[in-house]
Amino acid sequence: MTAAPPPASPPLAPQPECPLLHVDMDAFYASVMIRDRPDLHDVPVVVGGGHRGVVLSANYPARRFGIRSGMSGTEARRLCPHAVTMPPDFTLLTPVSKAIMETFRTVTPVVEVTSLDEAFLDVRGAGRLFGSPEAIAERLRARIRAEHGITCSVGIAATVSVAKARQPAGQAGRGAGDPTRPVRRRGAPPRRRRPLRRR
Ligand SMILES: [Mg+2]
Repeated sequence: MTAAPPPASPPLAPQPECPLLHVDMDAFYASVMIRDRPDLHDVPVVVGGGHRGVVLSANYPARRFGIRSGMSGTEARRLCPHAVTMPPDFTLLTPVSKAIMETFRTVTPVVEVTSLDEAFLDVRGAGRLFGSPEAIAERLRARIRAEHGITCSVGIAATVSVAKARQPAGQAGRGAGDPTRPVRRRGAPPRRRRPLRRR
């Protein structure tokens, strides 16, 4: 007597192999602080770095002088004495950050906010409604630009560490601010995945 064939298992929904997005606003503090100041868009602007402080953010004209976030204000002034320096205005920055994080939550409930301008999104469950991780990344970049007038970079990967590690080489460094620039898929072997916390 032959054994009955095993019951067919129900088909699994296809899962993207790279379901994590790391979204990082480009020069967030500087971008928001000068958003409504077109007179400052093409001049070097440094946020933070006042008396003995560190630079929180530098716009792209300032970065051309080598100024980077985390650098001392003294070093930034040495590199570019004529840069416009301003303190961060959190009454301006915090609401923009909160609104952007809410935009992320319209795509997936699994959002881990890691700072005012960065978050990881697990988009595994969002494919049916919003398409591939690449399509979701493009949608988010377009919305953030349209609604908040700032740009962001998105890393796509299978793991949190790779999504973030590959980020700066993506949109943020060269050609940042170009919303037509494609989102890059980060090729990486699947590894143990750190679960994201729901917030
Ligand atoms: Mg950033």
